[in-house]
Amino acid sequence: MGNMEKSEETRTPLNFIESMIEEDIQNNKNRGEVYTRFPPEPNGYLHIGHAKSICLNFGLGLKYKGKTNLRFDDTNPIKEEVEYIDSILEDIRWLGFDWIGEPRYASDYFDQLYEWAIKIIKKGKAYVDDQTAAEIAKQKGTPTEPGQESPYRNRSVEENLDLFDRMKNGVFDEGSKVLRAKIDMAAPNMHLRDPLMYRILKKPHHRTGDKWCIYPMYDWAHGQSDFIEGITHSLCTLEFEVHKPLYDWFLDQIVEGDYRPVQTEFARLNLSYTIMSKRKLLELVNEGYVNSWNDPRMPTISGLRRRGYTSESIRNFSNRVGVAKRDNVIDVSLLEYALKDDLNKKAPRVMAVLDPLKVIITNYPEGKTENLETINNPEDETMGSHTIPFSREILIEKSDFMEDPPGKFFRLAPGREVRLKSAYIIKCEDFKKNPETGEITELYCTYDPDTKSGSGSQKKVKGTLHWVSAPHAVNAEVRMYDRLFDHPDPAGQKDDDYKEFINPDSLKVLKCKVEPSLSTSKPMDKFQFQRIGYFCVDYDSTEDHLVFNLTVPLRDSWGKMQKKQEQMGKK
Ligand code: ATP
Ligand code: MG
Repeated sequence: MGNMEKSEETRTPLNFIESMIEEDIQNNKNRGEVYTRFPPEPNGYLHIGHAKSICLNFGLGLKYKGKTNLRFDDTNPIKEEVEYIDSILEDIRWLGFDWIGEPRYASDYFDQLYEWAIKIIKKGKAYVDDQTAAEIAKQKGTPTEPGQESPYRNRSVEENLDLFDRMKNGVFDEGSKVLRAKIDMAAPNMHLRDPLMYRILKKPHHRTGDKWCIYPMYDWAHGQSDFIEGITHSLCTLEFEVHKPLYDWFLDQIVEGDYRPVQTEFARLNLSYTIMSKRKLLELVNEGYVNSWNDPRMPTISGLRRRGYTSESIRNFSNRVGVAKRDNVIDVSLLEYALKDDLNKKAPRVMAVLDPLKVIITNYPEGKTENLETINNPEDETMGSHTIPFSREILIEKSDFMEDPPGKFFRLAPGREVRLKSAYIIKCEDFKKNPETGEITELYCTYDPDTKSGSGSQKKVKGTLHWVSAPHAVNAEVRMYDRLFDHPDPAGQKDDDYKEFINPDSLKVLKCKVEPSLSTSKPMDKFQFQRIGYFCVDYDSTEDHLVFNLTVPLRDSWGKMQKKQEQMGKK
């Protein structure tokens, strides 16, 4: 990462996790080593919340010259798919991080976990229960009332060993038996009321195939996986705080020595106008509210990437948000700000007209073309310049002309002058109107040949418009994206009815005209369309059919233009 980011890093005070780590290093705990991990369950695509956790875990590994593992928590063969694993690998690399060695899998530890389970049974601290999941749930009690003990709780060690062996060998039906830890049905912490360790699932696993028909519960696998990998700082979100005593209990049964992965909780990233549950995101895909997991409206990392987000902007956002100890909601505009900040430095400026109106420059020679120079980025001289053709017929935005404008309208109107960006000053002399619809169909302007941009002309006008040359412009499909939800907290409403808040106008497809230099653009190229916003070439784009995604509007100018059009349409 660049030097600028580093200096920013040294200026910001330590967060509570960094403070803890620095203290551990000072005390030479774990020989002063820092070993973190990112543990996704491969049951969906990663989203911006995961990006936060990735930046945190891998970021700490880098900052403290430690190590970071990627570990797939693949304990549930029903919901997990190889497609998700591949997307997770791609997304983490795209974010700019790399794990130590090969990716790890909780399933690599199934043998070890099985042996440890036998050890716990032998200690008389685990038993096979023949009750159904529903019966067990009924006996759980409430936080204020103790649970009930299972009638199978006091089976002998021998009987438990025999039953567990037969569970493993596929003798019993799915759902007919489970292995439970024997802890305390009256424990105030519900997670200690004889939690499940194994269930029977006669499903093949993407890595272990048909080897197993019993699968460890997440809680039984997670802490042990951290232990096996030698993780020093196990960071997780707040909801796991109450699981910690159980993780400690498991490890205390099976291992000696002082080393334990220390779990520290931080608040999940929540974003306004955004849904972050994988289950709900999957519903949006399966029920066709969006086109795919990487639809540019999705908060997934692959969706953000397709939308035109840069990995730097996501990393910067994640650093700025920091880590919190309490749940909070971050305004999505902070993410958009980080993006604009980055694209402002990187995206070449080009011209595109979304809603074209033809302008004929009556005193410009017919058949003449000039190639005018335009700088690529006023923020960065080293990005150079390119040329754009100018001719007698050009296209401007419909919204940049008004027949009868208010005083402060600094765009075109009868008798008014504007500068065409990187070209000349023009004056509107006349216009043509469709008498039936009132729609303006053509403008007639004159240009002042002495006002060419860069020629040193002193003439000043208030407005500058973007434009393209009509005969040279290239057709493009432009996908104008807006927020997928029109409620700031779509997930927090009653009955969990988030679909009610889907924005019906989250995608509008426009047929537009863009400057000819864009005809060679490639998917994922990013541009600023002058005065409109940042755009990214979509994966669907080809030389014969250019497709751009709106990444983010400049100062919401798109929204304002839309409103103006609607108001004018109503008049
Ligand atoms: P679920 O367990 O419901 O499928 P999850 O979002 O917890 O969903 P995981 O794959 O278990 O998904 O998450 C991987 C890691 O990312 C975990 O360490 C988790 O705590 C972290 N994580 C998930 N969501 C967020 C979030 N919104 N903000 C920060 N970290 C998150
Ligand atoms: Mg999880």
